[in-house]
Amino acid sequence: MAGAATLFSGNPLLAATAPKKDKLGIALVGLGYYSTDLLAPALQQTEKCYLAGIVTGTPAKAEAWKTKYNIPEKNIYNYQNFDQIAKNPDIDIVYVVLPPSMHREFVVRAAKAGKHVFCEKPMAPSVADCEAMISACKSNKVKLAIGYRCQHDPNIQAYMKVAKDQKFGKVKMINSAAGYFDARTDHWKQKKSLGGGVMGDMGVYALQGARLATGEEPVSVIAQASTTRPDIYKEVEETMMFMLEFPSGARAACQTSFGINMNYLQVNYEKGWLKMEPQSAYNGNKGSMSDGTIINFPIKSQQAKQMDEDCLAIMNNTDLIAPGEEGLRDIRVVEAIYKSVASGKAVKI
Ligand code: NAD
Repeated sequence: MAGAATLFSGNPLLAATAPKKDKLGIALVGLGYYSTDLLAPALQQTEKCYLAGIVTGTPAKAEAWKTKYNIPEKNIYNYQNFDQIAKNPDIDIVYVVLPPSMHREFVVRAAKAGKHVFCEKPMAPSVADCEAMISACKSNKVKLAIGYRCQHDPNIQAYMKVAKDQKFGKVKMINSAAGYFDARTDHWKQKKSLGGGVMGDMGVYALQGARLATGEEPVSVIAQASTTRPDIYKEVEETMMFMLEFPSGARAACQTSFGINMNYLQVNYEKGWLKMEPQSAYNGNKGSMSDGTIINFPIKSQQAKQMDEDCLAIMNNTDLIAPGEEGLRDIRVVEAIYKSVASGKAVKI
């Protein structure tokens, strides 16, 4: 009963009567590329959750999704009537897949509606936003997971374990890169007001590579922003290079770009090395180590695994792999990176 009460905390009446579910209902908010191409297909493979509802500002999308995924009319919302989701027992989790500047508003509204929340990365444009989101979820007694799919990938977990076990001694130097060529010329990723810029977007993968490979939080950063397409990247950076220093003395050189295809991680330890390439793809992340160990665990769907594991944490009231606090850790560094770009100096974190 306690588990059911947690699941249905949005509605005390339902909490008292509803049986414990074996599959949680997810409503996707924002039906753009990631929802359409990755999350909705993954939700056809999940075992602990299913696509129960949608929230969209485009009526034509509502019609198309309703037919394609057999979504009942009562589980379809727009941005205006979204708060009525509080009364809908089919929806246990709201998954926010909007441009980053909108994450805070919809996470807070979902929490107030008593729904657990999944939120895409980057968590939000500022530390203040992230803290408000964490606080709203805490006070409404709902869980908040960030869509860090890679942390659910056994290939990424394999290099995290090398640091934890100190298999090759201390980490000395890291090179971490994540970027792709974005041919779009008028997208939110190029607009400051919508939370664009490569640092929050692909940059968090380069940053996660360094944070997860050391298992430490950086203490200082120096960064440089640049663009080769100033006509497109007028408000935000196309490329960011940043160097991190960790408490143990480990250092990381990280690069991220909307103009360059790159995706790798190299870690040099006291007594060996590890390489991943790619390091943050949807599938096929793989690597090798100086002692001949190969990292190459096949995985059906990273997103399905992520959502199932996060749903299990909700059902069992256990810790999430990547809670809001983990999203905040990245944004703290991202804020310091922008401060460093503005001042041209190293910034303490
Ligand atoms: P997208 O531009 O394809 O979709 C954005 C959606 O938001 C669209 O449905 C759009 O209609 C809606 N929207 C509502 N108000 C908007 C506004 N004012 N401006 C622009 N769009 C508006 O973006 P996407 O690539 O699907 O990214 C959405 C979120 O998912 C972002 O946070 C992004 O970083 C994240 N994402 C994560 C991954 C991952 O691997 N975890 C991959 C891609 C995207």
